[in-house]
Amino acid sequence: MRELEILIKMQQCDDIIGEKEILMQELPRELSSIKNDLEIANTQLSETEQKLEENITMQKLKELDIQSNIVKINKYKEQLLTIKTNKEYKALNSEVSHLENKNSETDDILIELMEEEANIRIQLTEDKKKQEIANGVLKANEEKLNNKIKQVQKEIEQIRDERNEFATKLPRQILKRYASLIKNKNRKAVVFNENNACSGCGFNIRPQLVIEINNKDRLVNCESCGRILVAKPGDN
Ligand SMILES: [Zn+2]
Repeated sequence: MRELEILIKMQQCDDIIGEKEILMQELPRELSSIKNDLEIANTQLSETEQKLEENITMQKLKELDIQSNIVKINKYKEQLLTIKTNKEYKALNSEVSHLENKNSETDDILIELMEEEANIRIQLTEDKKKQEIANGVLKANEEKLNNKIKQVQKEIEQIRDERNEFATKLPRQILKRYASLIKNKNRKAVVFNENNACSGCGFNIRPQLVIEINNKDRLVNCESCGRILVAKPGDN
C-alpha cells in the first residue's frame, strides 16, 4: 500500500519538525539568559559607582566640617589671649575642647569612610571585570544565536514543505486522520509494531492485526491509542 510509505515519510518529517521546534524555544531562551546576565552586571556596576559617589561626597562633607571647626578653634584661641575673667576663659576653653573632640570624632568617621572607599574601589574593579566578561559573552553569542534561530526556522519551513508535498499524494480521509493524530497524540501519528506492542502506547497487538500490519495492504490502527501501526523497518 503506497499510502503507508507516504505516512511513514510524513511522520519522519514531523519528528524532525518537533525536534527543531524545541530548539526554536531553547535558542531564544539562551539568548535572553545571556542578555539578562549582562543586565545584572550593569546594575551591579552602577550600584557600586553610586556607592562610591556617596562615599566621596560624605568624605568631602566631613572634611569641610573639620575645616570649619578648625577655623572656629583658631578664632577662640586668639580670643582666649585677650580674655579678662576666669569665667569667660573657662567657657571659651571648654568650647575649644568640645570642638576639638568633635573633630577627633569626625576624623575617626573620615578614616572609616576612607577604608570603605578602598573596599568599594576593589568591588568596582570586580564589577567592571564581570561586566566586560558578560558583554564579551553577549557579543560572541548574539549574532551566532540569531543566525542559528533563522537557520532552524528555515529548516523547519523546508521540512514542512517536504511533508506537505507528501500530503498531496494522500487521499483526503487518510490525511485528515494523520493530521488529527499528530495534533492530539503528542505529534505521533504513525507508530511501529515493537515486539507485538504499539510503540506509541505499549498496548499489545493481536496476532491477527500483526499479520495485517505485515501484509501492508490496509491501514491498521492501534486498538488502544488509535495511532496508525506499521511494521518496524527491517522487521519484515
Ligand atoms: Zn497504541
